[in-house]
Formats: sequence, C-alpha cells, structure tokens
Amino acid sequence: MGILYLVIPCYNEEAVIEHTVEELTPILEDLRQKAKIAFESRILLVDDGSRDTTWEKIEALHQANPFVCGLKLAHNRGHQNALMAGLMEARRYCDCAVSMDADLQDDIHVLEEFIDKFNAGTDIVYGVRNKRDSDTFFKRRTALGFYKVMRLLGVETVYNHADYRLMSRRALDALSEYKEVNLFLRGIVPLIGYSTDYVYYDRSERYAGESKYPLRKMLSFAMDGITSFSVRPLRMISVAGILIGCLSVLGLLYALISKLCGVAVSGWTAIVCSIWLLGGIQLFCTGVVGEYIGKIYSEVKARPRYRVETFLKK
Ligand code: UDP
Ligand code: MG
Repeated sequence: MGILYLVIPCYNEEAVIEHTVEELTPILEDLRQKAKIAFESRILLVDDGSRDTTWEKIEALHQANPFVCGLKLAHNRGHQNALMAGLMEARRYCDCAVSMDADLQDDIHVLEEFIDKFNAGTDIVYGVRNKRDSDTFFKRRTALGFYKVMRLLGVETVYNHADYRLMSRRALDALSEYKEVNLFLRGIVPLIGYSTDYVYYDRSERYAGESKYPLRKMLSFAMDGITSFSVRPLRMISVAGILIGCLSVLGLLYALISKLCGVAVSGWTAIVCSIWLLGGIQLFCTGVVGEYIGKIYSEVKARPRYRVETFLKK
C-alpha cells in the first residue's frame, strides 16, 4: 500500500475542474477504504499558466479539500511540460503517480486496476484505449496514421496509449534523468525499461470545455515525437540523394545516346517538370534537416522546461 498522486495538467479548464475533483474524490476514498492506497494520497492539479479562473478554482478546491494539491506554473508550457512538472513534484512525496487529463476522457473507474498492478510489483502501467468512438473521424485517422509513422520510423511507442499511465517512484526517478527539452513522454517512458503492464479502457467524450489540442498543436506534437526520437528521416534524405544521383546518371546516358543517334530532344515540359520536382524535393529535405537543427538548437540551450510559481499542499 503506497501513497498515490494523481497528476492532472490543466490549461483553461475552469469548466471541468471542479467536476473532475468531485468525480475523483469518491474513487480515491474507496481505494483508501480498501487499503489499496495510503491516506496521504493526493490529487495534484497542475495549472499550466491558464488565462481563465482555473488557478482560483484550484486554490478554492485546495482550501475545501485537503486531498487536493495545486501546482502553478508561471507560464503556459504545454501539456507534456506541465505533466513533467507535476510528476517531478509528486516524485518527492509519492510511491506511485498516475497521470491523466483534466477532462475525464480517460475512464477513472479503471484506477483500481492500475493500483492493483502497482501493488503486485509493476513499475509502469499504461492505459490503453480499446476504441476511439468518442474521437472525431478526423482525429481518429490522424492519430492512427501517427502511430503507424512512428512505428515505421523505429520509435517504440505503446499503441493507442495517451498519457494515462501509472509510474512508480523508481520509474519517476529514472524519468527525471532524461534531460531533453523537446519532451515526448510517450517515447521516453518505454525507454526506462522497468516492468510494465497494461490496463484497457474506453475513452469517452470530453466532459465540458473545448479540446486544447487543435490540429496545429497536434501536428507540432507529432513532429516533436518523430524528430526527438528518430534520425531516420535524415537517413532517408541521404538514400533519396543516392537514388536520384543514380537515376540522373541513367538519364545522362539516355540523353547522350539519343543525341548520338540523332534523335532530336524536343519539349521543355520535361525539363520544367523536373526542375520543379527536384526543387520541391530539395526544399523538403532542407526542411527536414532544419527540423533537426532546430532540435539541437533548443537542446544545447538547455533552458528549464518549466518554472514553478506556487505549490499548495496540506
Ligand atoms: N493541457 C495543458 N497545457 C496545454 C494544453 C493542454 O496542460 O497547453 C492539458 C489539458 O488541460 C488537458 C490535457 O492537457 O488536461 C489534454 O488536453 P485536451 O483534453 O484538450 O486534448 P485532447 O484530449 O483533445 O487531445
Ligand atoms: Mg481531452
């Protein structure tokens, strides 16, 4: 029986946060009653620099309910960084931490299964979605495409696992040793290597409020995931370069032979097309190289990932 911290990043979540705590409290109470978690267990709400009244609500919840802790980041640093901030704070007090979203899309009724697996000695338990009925068709397709691309590029991720996950303190200590600034937790956690298990659940609709992950953020998240974990795109550029080089030698031979045979080469269409095509390929390749240089740039600066403004705990 250990101390559990539920780490919940919140960004402009005033519409859901009270309801979330309301729903979680009886579940934690029940786990305490069954002596599956220690009395000192807490819900840790991380305010990721919200611009609405989220933090005021967290303060009020903390006043009313000693099981609720609050961590306020000075700035909006994004879901992954907020989660990291919460986990690193929780690590100081907990035996295990479960991360979940504020909108209760992840089924909180399987929490007990997470705890049972932890109590049985597992260090990392992944929550895996059975189906994605609640997501829009578009989100479902893009997400599945993303997992496929990741797999193809050789990044080990857990299929259909978002950041609903239990980690033991030992695993959190290991996580703290990964210093990268471009955080992609779903890629890092499998690298830790301690014993793992899975819990399956159905993901439901967002309880209230809007998704904080519009297409723009999803794309940049996917880009981060790929470029932070795989250098295969760089390799693919070299391979493409070699292939195109070989092809152009063939083309040169063909041109020479047709010249010698006196066949007039007519038409600028082919030339123009190839210029555009090659121009496009080159630009794309330069872009990919640029992505990695951008990554290196932010890693070498090694700026802090987040800054804690206030921590409330009773
Ligand atoms: N979130 C955050 N910082 C951000 C964006 C989102 O802490 O900059 C939190 C948000 O409050 C929620 C979780 O990340 O608890 C997941 O966001 P959301 O539910 O909007 O994403 P979706 O489920 O639509 O992918
Ligand atoms: Mg959500």
